Amino acid sequence: MRYISTRGGSPAVGFADAVLAGLAPDGGLYVPEAWPQFSADEIRGFLGRPYHEVAAAVIGAFAGDEIPRDVLLEMCREAYATFNHAAVVPLVQVAPGAFIAELFHGPSLAFKDVAMQILARLYDHLLGQEGRVQTILCATSGDTGGAAVEAFRGRKNVKVVALFPQGRISEVQRRFMTTAEEANVGCVAVAGTFDDCQAIVKDIFADQALRQAVDLSGVNSINFARIAAQAVYYFTTAVAVGAPDRAVSFCVPSGNFGDAFAGYVAHRMGLPIQRIIAATNANDILARAFEEGRYARGQVQPTISPAMDIQAASNFERLYFEAARRDAVETTRAFQAFGSAGAIDVPPQALAYMRELFRGVSVSEDEIRRTILSTLNETGELIDPHTAVAVAGLGKVAGTPDPVIVLSTAHPAKFPEDVTEAAGLAPELPRGAANLAARPERFDALPAEATAIKAYVRAFAEA
Ligand SMILES: *Cc1c(COP(=O)(O)O)cnc(C)c1O
Repeated sequence: MRYISTRGGSPAVGFADAVLAGLAPDGGLYVPEAWPQFSADEIRGFLGRPYHEVAAAVIGAFAGDEIPRDVLLEMCREAYATFNHAAVVPLVQVAPGAFIAELFHGPSLAFKDVAMQILARLYDHLLGQEGRVQTILCATSGDTGGAAVEAFRGRKNVKVVALFPQGRISEVQRRFMTTAEEANVGCVAVAGTFDDCQAIVKDIFADQALRQAVDLSGVNSINFARIAAQAVYYFTTAVAVGAPDRAVSFCVPSGNFGDAFAGYVAHRMGLPIQRIIAATNANDILARAFEEGRYARGQVQPTISPAMDIQAASNFERLYFEAARRDAVETTRAFQAFGSAGAIDVPPQALAYMRELFRGVSVSEDEIRRTILSTLNETGELIDPHTAVAVAGLGKVAGTPDPVIVLSTAHPAKFPEDVTEAAGLAPELPRGAANLAARPERFDALPAEATAIKAYVRAFAEA
């Protein structure tokens, strides 16, 4: 399987190169040259299989012959053995024809674990073959850092540096990073905002000398392996409610659009999906794109679903590329214009294509809080604020056909204050994470200055 850039200016590469590079050299995002296909019989055959077997089948379709099937199967087995639920992604019925898929049973209690656990094993395997050690740098607004630290700690061929804004993430989120004991993990509390952290990461990636010296890599959701790993639970959950003999709809709490785009990927691979609702909080760039045809950045507003406080949904470029019939010239024009002007109009034909599958909806802070309470009252399920965005969003989009599956992206105990305030009930940390508060923390505090962080990254990589 070869991977091409949405901007058309980079040569096609294999799976390993696409994964280790993350972003294509021309600034585009990698997509497979053709979508692998599963027949209805193959999809039907996923029913009742262990999660890691379906994961190996789906990810294997993208890896082609670059990773031996038995090696990939073993990686998937290990990755999903870290989850504290035997079903890995269990489904809970909440109403007739309505289900919640719990994606938060991984080690850091957020859906990012689903992809990050397998990504870490892919990196270790692919780098090990080349005798390479990479440094992974990530800025986190909360969940990505914890998932990355949990996945990459102790791996031989990877060092990971997580930058988080001091005092601006929850204690539980911080402790998932700072209590890791392994020497290949470095956590930095930056005296600034998440935007400062991200700007510093950009600066460091732009420093070619440092980038080469420490073999820098990134693991945010532009990495295609993350998308491939996220397509897996669309298959397992849809099959559990009747696919492929019945079409299924999904409602997805969305920020960077990686999770919802993975649904598009599953659809293109043969899974009958009727509709995917991209539900956003007040940061509604995606909702406006699908409903009004204008993809336009706004001011980031802080909300109680912070993992979705994003005003540029990187994976939207992949869908745009598909909707523009894979016209790389048009995609380049559009996203260069978005980069400079902060807004583009989606051409009518492309918008019509997107709306064959997608709807967008945005949800206010009030609606999030009310939905946490009403879901508890009506179903006994305590949901986190991100999941509540999707549950509330589903209620606002008329005519979504049954059955519909809401993706639940975080454990409520990751956001104890907001959940307790909305529900009048305190969520409990699952057993594995319960001693988090007692474990010693280890992190460095640095000013929000690129020079200081660069020095840290260089020293950490060389240690
Ligand atoms: C990252 C995240 C999301 C958003 O997922 P995208 O792929 O960025 O759209 C939603 N909920 C939680 C809890 C997350 O951590």
